[in-house]
Amino acid sequence: MKKIVMKFGGTSVATGENIRRVANIVAGSVEKDRRVVVVVSALSGVTNQLVEEAEQAKKKDEKQIQEFTKNLVDKHMAVAAKAIMNAGIRKEVAQVIEKTVDELEKVLTGICYVGELTPQSKDYVMSFGERLSAPIVWGALRDLKLQTGCFTGKEAGIVTDANFGEARPLMNVTTHQVKMRLEPLIEKKVTPVVTGYIAATQDGVVTTLGRGGSDYTATILSVALAADEVWIWTDVDGIMTADPKIVPSAKMLPELSYGEAAEMAIFGAKAMHPSALEPVIEARIPVRIRNVFNPENHGTLIADGQEAKSAEVVKAVAMIRDVAMINLKGAAMVGAPGSYSKVFDVMGKNNINIMMVSTAVSEANISLVIRRSLLGRALSTLEIALLGRGLVNEITSEDDVCVIAAMGANMKGTLGVASRIFTAMAQKRINIRMIAQGSSELNISFVVKENDGEAAVRAIHKEFKLDQI
Ligand code: ADP
Ligand code: ASP
Ligand code: MG
Repeated sequence: MKKIVMKFGGTSVATGENIRRVANIVAGSVEKDRRVVVVVSALSGVTNQLVEEAEQAKKKDEKQIQEFTKNLVDKHMAVAAKAIMNAGIRKEVAQVIEKTVDELEKVLTGICYVGELTPQSKDYVMSFGERLSAPIVWGALRDLKLQTGCFTGKEAGIVTDANFGEARPLMNVTTHQVKMRLEPLIEKKVTPVVTGYIAATQDGVVTTLGRGGSDYTATILSVALAADEVWIWTDVDGIMTADPKIVPSAKMLPELSYGEAAEMAIFGAKAMHPSALEPVIEARIPVRIRNVFNPENHGTLIADGQEAKSAEVVKAVAMIRDVAMINLKGAAMVGAPGSYSKVFDVMGKNNINIMMVSTAVSEANISLVIRRSLLGRALSTLEIALLGRGLVNEITSEDDVCVIAAMGANMKGTLGVASRIFTAMAQKRINIRMIAQGSSELNISFVVKENDGEAAVRAIHKEFKLDQI
């Protein structure tokens, strides 16, 4: 008897029809005597709408908020109507949707009156997408006569730190609680449906695990429950040599090591949350990425001892959007011990993650890449802390850039990879703004203008003949 945690992404639950597909996949697995835990994302696009509404709420009035919540109810009711055939179950789910949206309306109205959105209240608002989608999936499973129960991440027992927006699980307490709450059900062949993405602090305050965090929920639960496998169901066949939306001829990678997959997740292959592999690496639980629209395909297997098989060292290429580059200049930085640490210290203390760094020995300058949404905060904190203090005399930034990352094991030991990449860029007349070779030996990343990003991905894909692997 295998225990499998299955996570279904936003597109997999975007419509009533898709949710029936999901329910059939789960029911098919339970029929084969597998024990399944289901993790669900918000309906496609809903989390984005919630962020926007949360950020706008302080400028809105009650009527506008009611309009938003009404649309949200309508959207979920329409999906539920198609996903669930049994009228009784549908009514029960409808009541849950209405009650949940009532609560959301109160929260948004509160933000509107107080005129302030804290990271804590933002997470609370963002938790509603999954709180609305999970009951529909639960209803669809009941419709197929499965025994099931519906849980928020908090109810399932996932506990995190209080780093709102990007919370991290506290694995010991989480494992203890999840085991206590879900295991007895699983043993009785009940299929729990758990909201992805959301959890709570030890005091019960709602947190989120970062965008795309439902993947993380799935791997956290798999470790807590000592599952045999995690299946991440999405809208593509698996992890591919590039985003198929940019390179239609991209090929699926049937096997990847944890290291390779983690590198790809960190570097933008949106197919997975960057931290999602952390819990399963130690526990050695294999992860499969599979396509709900093509369930016959076995997808990409990420496991110990697996490795992408390819004659080339470069196995995949990704484009990371929504980033910005900051350049700091100052002659005094040269030969001044501790000068870089001041820069990193300022960023770290302000909770701004640095994704890439590059420095030049001769010119006294340092370039950093960060998330674009943090640029304003990063610039103002750097200016306050560093400008006019004798170390840095110029701070500039570019917000129309992206990172291109070429990935693959054994890259470091192979000569000529960088030269092939950069020749390919030169041939396309793509200007490179900054370069960093990851010390992990697994990737070379560089910054180009966002407008050149897709062409850069295609050029590297072609140079390393990735459509032929
Ligand atoms: P979900 O809603 O299921 O979590 P995501 O949108 O987070 O789905 O991730 C799936 C998408 O990731 C795909 O539709 C694809 O366009 C994109 N993607 C980007 N890079 C890759 C890659 N290397 N392999 C597969 N998918 C990728
Ligand atoms: N709904 C959340 C998001 O869009 C989490 C997820 O889909 O994995 O980021
Ligand atoms: Mg995702």
